[in-house]
Amino acid sequence: MSKKVHVFNAGPCLLPQVAIDNAIEALKDFSGTGVSLLSISHRTKEWDAVMDECRALWRELLHIPETHEVIFLGGGASLQFLYVAMNYLEKKAAYLDTGVWAHKALVEAQGIGEAYAIACSKDKNYSYIPKGFDIPANLDYLHITTNNTIYGTEIHEDMDCPCPLIADMSSDIMSRPVDVSKYDLIYGGAQKNVGPAGVIFAIIRKESLGRVTRHLPTMLNYQTHIDKLSMFNTPPVFNIFVMNETLKWIKSMGGVEAIQKINQQKADLLYGEIDRNPLFVGTAAKEDRSLMNVCFVMAPGYETLQDEFFAFAKAHGMIGIKGHRSVGGFRASLYNACTVEDVQALVDCMQEFEKLKK
Ligand SMILES: *Cc1c(COP(=O)(O)O)cnc(C)c1O
Repeated sequence: MSKKVHVFNAGPCLLPQVAIDNAIEALKDFSGTGVSLLSISHRTKEWDAVMDECRALWRELLHIPETHEVIFLGGGASLQFLYVAMNYLEKKAAYLDTGVWAHKALVEAQGIGEAYAIACSKDKNYSYIPKGFDIPANLDYLHITTNNTIYGTEIHEDMDCPCPLIADMSSDIMSRPVDVSKYDLIYGGAQKNVGPAGVIFAIIRKESLGRVTRHLPTMLNYQTHIDKLSMFNTPPVFNIFVMNETLKWIKSMGGVEAIQKINQQKADLLYGEIDRNPLFVGTAAKEDRSLMNVCFVMAPGYETLQDEFFAFAKAHGMIGIKGHRSVGGFRASLYNACTVEDVQALVDCMQEFEKLKK
C-alpha cells in the first residue's frame, strides 16, 4: 500500500498515472512485439507509429501551423540555450532577463555573439515581468522565458514583437493555448509538464532557419533534425514514449483549452488562500503570478513558523513544496497532472495550520 501523497515537485514533474501505467506495460512488452521498449530498434514500423503519433498530437493540441515543424532531442533545455544562439544569432539578439534560466540563456548566447538584456527584473529578485521596453525591429531575435519556474512569474500572453520571437516554454508548455505563429522558435525540456527528463521539444518556423553564416556542427543544426524527423541519431525512445502517453492524456482531458481552465481553477484556489490566510504571503507581483509555480513565504511576524509548517505539511502528505534556495519559503508547482484535489489538500493544510497557531 503506498501512502497518499500530493506531489508539487518543480521538475521532474508529476505525470498522469495512465502514462506511467502504459510505460510500465511497454517496458515489459512494447506494442505487442514481445520486446521491451528499452530493447526495440527505433528503425521499426512500431516505433515510427509512436513518433508519428507524438508529432501529430503536438500539432493538434497546440494548433501548430504548416509553417512550423516540431522536433525532439536529448540534451536538456540548457543545451537549447546554445542551439538558439548557434542557429539564429548573426548580428545582435536581445534577451528578457526574468530569472536564472533566462539569464543562463543570455550568457550562453554571449559566448557566440552579441547579445544583451533588453530589460531585467533582478532588482526585485525577479519577482515581476518587466514591461514597456522598446524592442528594436532589426534584432535577429528577442528571447523570452514565458514561465519563470524558480520565481513563480509568467508572461500570460503571446506578445506582439517587431523582430523574430524565441521562447523557452519549459515550464508552461501545454498549460495554455499558444499562438505558435507568433514565434520563430518555441523550445523546452519535457520534464516540467509533458514528460520525463531527458527529451526536449522544439517548434521551429521552417523558413527562419538558414539565416546565419557560421558553420553549424551537424548535431547542433536544427535543420538536420527537421530533415530526419528527429531520427538523425538514436532518439530517447523511453522519454518520447512517455511524452506521447502524456499528450494522449491531455487530449483525453479535452485538450489544452480544457486543461487551461483547470489550471486557472487550481491557481485561483491556492492564491486565494495565500491572500486570505494571515500566516502566508505571495512573493510574485500579482499581475505576473504564474499558474504553474506558486511561490509564497511566511508573512511578516510569522517567519519563525516556517520549519514547523514544512513538518506539518509533510506529515499531511505534501511533497516538494520547498521553495528554490534563491527565493526561500515555499513553492507549489501545479503542473497539468496535479489535480484540484491535490491543491485543495494543500489549502486545507494551510487552514488547519492557521487554526493551530491563532
Ligand atoms: C528547468 C528549466 C530549464 C533547464 O532545463 P534542463 O532540461 O534541466 O536543462 C530551462 N528553462 C526553464 C524555464 C526551466 O524551468
